[in-house]
Amino acid sequence: MKTIIIGAGLAGLAAAYRLTEDDIIIIEKDPEPGGMVSSYSLDGNHIEQYYHHIFAGDRALISLIYELGLAGKLEWLRGSTGYYINGQIYPMNTPFEILKALPFIDVIKLARLVLKAKTVKDTTPFDDITAKKWIIETAGQSVYNNFFEPLLDSKFGENKEKVSAAWLLGRVRIRSNRGTKGEKLGYMRGGFHELIEAMANSVRKNGGIIRQGNVSRIKISSGSVTGVVADGEHIDCDRVISTVAPDTLKKITCSEVTGHGTDINYQGTACALFGLAGQVMDGVYWLNIKENVPFGAVIEHTNFIPPSDYGEHLMYVTSYFQNPESVLWKSGDEKVIELYLEGLEKLFPGFGNKVRWWRLRRDIDTAPVYEVGYGKKILPYQTKIKGLYLAGMFSDANYPERSMNGSVVAGFRCAGAIKNTGF
Ligand SMILES: Cc1cc2nc3c(=O)[nH]c(=O)nc-3n(C[C@H](O)[C@H](O)[C@H](O)COP(=O)(O)OP(=O)(O)OC[C@H]3O[C@@H](n4cnc5c(N)ncnc54)[C@H](O)[C@@H]3O)c2cc1C
Repeated sequence: MKTIIIGAGLAGLAAAYRLTEDDIIIIEKDPEPGGMVSSYSLDGNHIEQYYHHIFAGDRALISLIYELGLAGKLEWLRGSTGYYINGQIYPMNTPFEILKALPFIDVIKLARLVLKAKTVKDTTPFDDITAKKWIIETAGQSVYNNFFEPLLDSKFGENKEKVSAAWLLGRVRIRSNRGTKGEKLGYMRGGFHELIEAMANSVRKNGGIIRQGNVSRIKISSGSVTGVVADGEHIDCDRVISTVAPDTLKKITCSEVTGHGTDINYQGTACALFGLAGQVMDGVYWLNIKENVPFGAVIEHTNFIPPSDYGEHLMYVTSYFQNPESVLWKSGDEKVIELYLEGLEKLFPGFGNKVRWWRLRRDIDTAPVYEVGYGKKILPYQTKIKGLYLAGMFSDANYPERSMNGSVVAGFRCAGAIKNTGF
């Protein structure tokens, strides 16, 4: 069977990795595989273009890392978190530290909310309630205003009040595994580039091809896939696995043929990486921000992985944006960096003097917006078009939150669906 996979992100690579008996061609629009987990190469060191780490519950991803012989690279480190409130950074790693940042009564209510979230086994019934409503009902307006509202704002901006409680519950469960000393996060020393390389090499070793190309059409005739058009070239095949966002899928198939995915809303990300002459925050890795600045979080990577790995200090500054009219999407790179630098000076006076270089990565479709009712929009692995399969951030494995683990599982499940149907 000749199978074309559109997209060499984790979902596409994972599907190819499992479909060892097929003739695989992965067509990727970017020069290198990796998708959202692509890396910059800095004098031979690799660093993700978007900050990434693993959570303890990411079982499929962790097993894959072991299977690929990369266990030695996986490290579990404390990623210190903080919250910038009223001109001050409050560490937020332990229950004791959270006590210092929030009114005592809010901390009690927050703790109760977290405990309640942890007892929820099935998030489905929470798909129809907004996160805001659930938080206010469970912990009160003050906990919403002081703690969750700024976090929802930085994650979903103007869509924050549409997001479902199912998403929130999923998120709280992932992030509340802190104990008394704070949360441990997984990272691959050398970067997740190691994982992408190992997966791509394994696909190639099995005879698969990974090539650059922009797929503009999935060719369908009499209800069956017949091939794709990539950079004007017609390539025949028996099967297509699309891992692209639903909006792109709609453009390359004319949505009526799939009948799916036309109404899933995605958001974009504008993520800057700064190379710095020195440390900025005193040990804080991840800083959430309750302040009027044009970004939602600051992530000092070299407060997580030592700067000696890179020969300098590295810091991400990032914001999600909700529509193509956003200044973060419409403006040139320099303008976005100028905006970010203005905000950074406000938080860290003198920041500009430390900057050696910057890079900016932006994409319009970096995450689904998990709005109320999203659960009903999840796309199936197998479509009604014979030979057309889907796997990616829109799959069930990435609900109620998308992740590297989710896309690996989506790729595996899609390969499983193909093996089950035989076509
Ligand atoms: C800022 C940010 C931070 C994140 N942090 C974490 C984290 O800490 N931990 C975690 O687990 N997850 C994190 N994620 C999520 C994780 O990166 C994604 O869930 C996962 O990588 C998605 O993989 P995918 O293969 O489903 O999609 P993608 O990586 O988007 O892959 C789709 C691929 O399709 C290609 N493509 C699109 N259109 C075409 C076309 N027409 N022709 C050919 N190719 C095409 C794209 O270039 C892309 O390579 C983060 C994501 C972002 C944006």
